[in-house]
Amino acid sequence: MSGVSHDGEERRETPMAAKLKALIRQSGPITVADYMRACLSDREHGYYVTRQAIGRNADFITAPEISQVFGELIGLWSGVVWQLMGRPGSVNLVEIGPGRGTLMADALRAARIVPGFLNAATVHLIESSNVLRRTQETVLAGAPAAISWHRDIASALGRGATIPEGPTIVVANEFLDTQPVSQFVFHEGNWHERAVGLDAEERLTFTMLEAPDDSFEPTLGADYVAKDGDILERNSDMTYLGYAILMSLAEVAPFAALFIDYGHARSGVGDTLQAVSEHRYVSPLFAPGETDLTTQVDFELFETIASAPGRIAIDGPVTQAEFLGRLGIMERASKLMSANPGLANEIEVGVARLMAVPGMGDRFKAIGIRSAGLSPLPGFPPPRSSP
Ligand code: SAH
Repeated sequence: MSGVSHDGEERRETPMAAKLKALIRQSGPITVADYMRACLSDREHGYYVTRQAIGRNADFITAPEISQVFGELIGLWSGVVWQLMGRPGSVNLVEIGPGRGTLMADALRAARIVPGFLNAATVHLIESSNVLRRTQETVLAGAPAAISWHRDIASALGRGATIPEGPTIVVANEFLDTQPVSQFVFHEGNWHERAVGLDAEERLTFTMLEAPDDSFEPTLGADYVAKDGDILERNSDMTYLGYAILMSLAEVAPFAALFIDYGHARSGVGDTLQAVSEHRYVSPLFAPGETDLTTQVDFELFETIASAPGRIAIDGPVTQAEFLGRLGIMERASKLMSANPGLANEIEVGVARLMAVPGMGDRFKAIGIRSAGLSPLPGFPPPRSSP
C-alpha cells in the first residue's frame, strides 16, 4: 500500500486547476478530500461530470468492461441472494456507480434463468454523473426489468428515500475507491490534515494545514509509533453517512450488499491517492478534473464501520479471484466458449485478466454485508467462528 510514485514536475493548466488556484489564493490550501471531491464532482469541470472515462479507448477499464462474465455472475449472485431471502414478491436491485451500465445489462440477461427473480425485481441505479446516466439509459433500453435512476445515496436510500423500503440487494464495483478521503501527515509531533496549496511558482503542490488536528487519532493499534512524514487516510464524513444509511437498511428488512474494489485488507501507513490518464499513472496534481483520482479502499476500516451496529454481518473480504472462482467463473466461461466458438479467445483472455494473480485477481477484493438473519452470501467462505 506504500506510496505511488508521483513525478511532481509536470502540471497542466486545466479549467479545474485555474478554479482551484483562485480558491487557494483567496482562502489558503484546500484539504486533499476537498481537492478530490472538486476534481471528480465539480458541477462545471468535474471528471465524472464532464467525460466518458471508462472503456477500452478511455482512461481506465473496469471488470465489467473486460468480460461479460463478470456482470453475468453478479446477476446470478443477485438471483441466489433473492432466493436466500425467501423469494420476496418484490425486491430492490440497487447498483451504486453503474458506469456505462454494462454490469447491469449483463447481470439482467443472465438472471433471466432464475425463475421469478426478474418479476420481483425493480432496478435502481444511483449515479451522480449526467453523462454516464445517458449512456446507462441507452445500454439498458431493452432490459428485462423496470429501471429508475437516483442521484446520490442519501436521497435514494436515506430519510425520505426515493427507493421504496423492503428487501434490498446492493451491488457496487469500483465505487468506493472514488469516494474522497482525508489524509493526515505526522509532522514534528502532531497530526496535520494534508492539503493542496501553491508553491513559489504558483503551481499546485502538496502541503498541510498549518494548525494541527488534535482530534485525529490513528487506529493502527498500540504497536504503531508515528514517524515524521507518515501519512494516514480516513474516509470522509459523506462516506460514513453512506455506510450508515446502508447499515440502517440492513436492520429493517432483508438486505445484502456486495462491494468489489481495489484495496487492502489491513489498515496501514501510506498515501494511496493516485491518478490515471489514458491507462497510465500520473501525478494527482497533473491535470485536475481531467484524470481519474482514486484511493485504495481500506477494507479493515470498512469492516469496523460496517460491523458497528451489531445486527448486520460481514462476509469476506476475499480476493476477486477467490470470489469469482467460488461463483464458478471457469465453468461459466467454458460453457460460453463452446456456445460461441468465434468469441472463445476473447472470453478466455478476459477471464484470465479478471483472475490474474498477481493482478486484478488479488488487487481487487470483494466484501459482503447482510442482515444478520440471512445465511452467508454466495462467493464467500463460511464465516469465521467467534473466538
Ligand atoms: N461500476 C462501474 C463504474 C465505476 S466508476 C464499472 O465497474 O465499470 C465509478 C462510478 O461511480 C461512476 O459511474 C461515477 O459516476 C459514479 N459515482 C462516483 N461518485 C458517486 C456518488 N457520490 N454518487 C453516485 N455515483 C457516483
